Amino acid sequence: MRKIGVLTSGGDAPGMNAAIRAVVRKSIYEGVEVYGVFQGYQGLVTDNIHKLELGDVGDIIQRGGTKLYSARCPEFIEPAVRQKAIENLKAKGIDSLVVIGGDGSYRGAQRLDEEGIKTIGVPGTIDNDINGTDYTIGFDTALNTIIDAVDRIRDTATSHERTFIIEVMGRDAGDLALWAGVAGGAETILIPESPSDMKEVAERIESGMSRGKKHSIIVVAEGVMSASQCADELHKYINVDTRESVLGHMQRGGKPTGQDRVLASRLGAFAVDLLLDGVHGKAVGTENNKLSATRFDKVFEESHMIDEGLYRLSRELSI
Ligand code: ADP
Repeated sequence: MRKIGVLTSGGDAPGMNAAIRAVVRKSIYEGVEVYGVFQGYQGLVTDNIHKLELGDVGDIIQRGGTKLYSARCPEFIEPAVRQKAIENLKAKGIDSLVVIGGDGSYRGAQRLDEEGIKTIGVPGTIDNDINGTDYTIGFDTALNTIIDAVDRIRDTATSHERTFIIEVMGRDAGDLALWAGVAGGAETILIPESPSDMKEVAERIESGMSRGKKHSIIVVAEGVMSASQCADELHKYINVDTRESVLGHMQRGGKPTGQDRVLASRLGAFAVDLLLDGVHGKAVGTENNKLSATRFDKVFEESHMIDEGLYRLSRELSI
């Protein structure tokens, strides 16, 4: 009988649990034994691999984080370390693996696939920075968490007539900042994909204030600069009362949204379907809301792109 392993790796994301649940339940539904690897690639190397049953994934679909724990395992780039992981899997008769994680995790997954473990990647990261899928699992939840924070900060910004600078996560990608900025009605959105001229930002704030605007909200992606650097840059051109808010890890946790739970359920089950059909070395996703699978090398071929149309719109709506 065929055996499938599942692990979560890299930064945790809301909806990872729903994806684990889908992999486990779909495997068992198809009559396949399924094993949870605890602590990501670290657990593969240390043989922290345990058989999972239906009940092991009960009551987790609504929980943030990951029941399988996640870890960073820098030594996984070394072939000898991966060989140990492969031996541990093979000793249990596991020949297939579902890796739920981000870009870095996919690189490990690609190596494992080349070295004899049939592997499928499932995009689990709040950053939405993976090619081959419209959205990653966790993005929608983090986005809604940020929007909630922006709405609250806006109350204070208006009451005190201040400029608020809100720093959001996203690593090198600006998706969270862009979407949260559009949804939160931010006056300025700073993303790594499009260099911004702080002089122009200052002029926009000034012209808004001269029209009687009570506040200004700047959403800055961590990949551009920190909120405090942004305040320093702004003060070079304009004398405004600024306050900085770094949302930090609150963006990574929390109950997954319905969107993320459904996306995770679809992608987790699809990963199992593909492995059972003999497909591997690919990452799953949805493109135009249809399930899709993209070879790892294609996923890495191009750097992640921002939605240019949405960025243009954000500028048009924040005049
Ligand atoms: P994410 O998957 O969220 O992008 P990381 O970039 O931290 O998170 O990657 C998670 C893990 O994937 C790393 O700790 C490492 O174990 C593994 N990994 C990353 N890059 C490689 C690589 N080039 N080769 C093998 N394994 C890698």
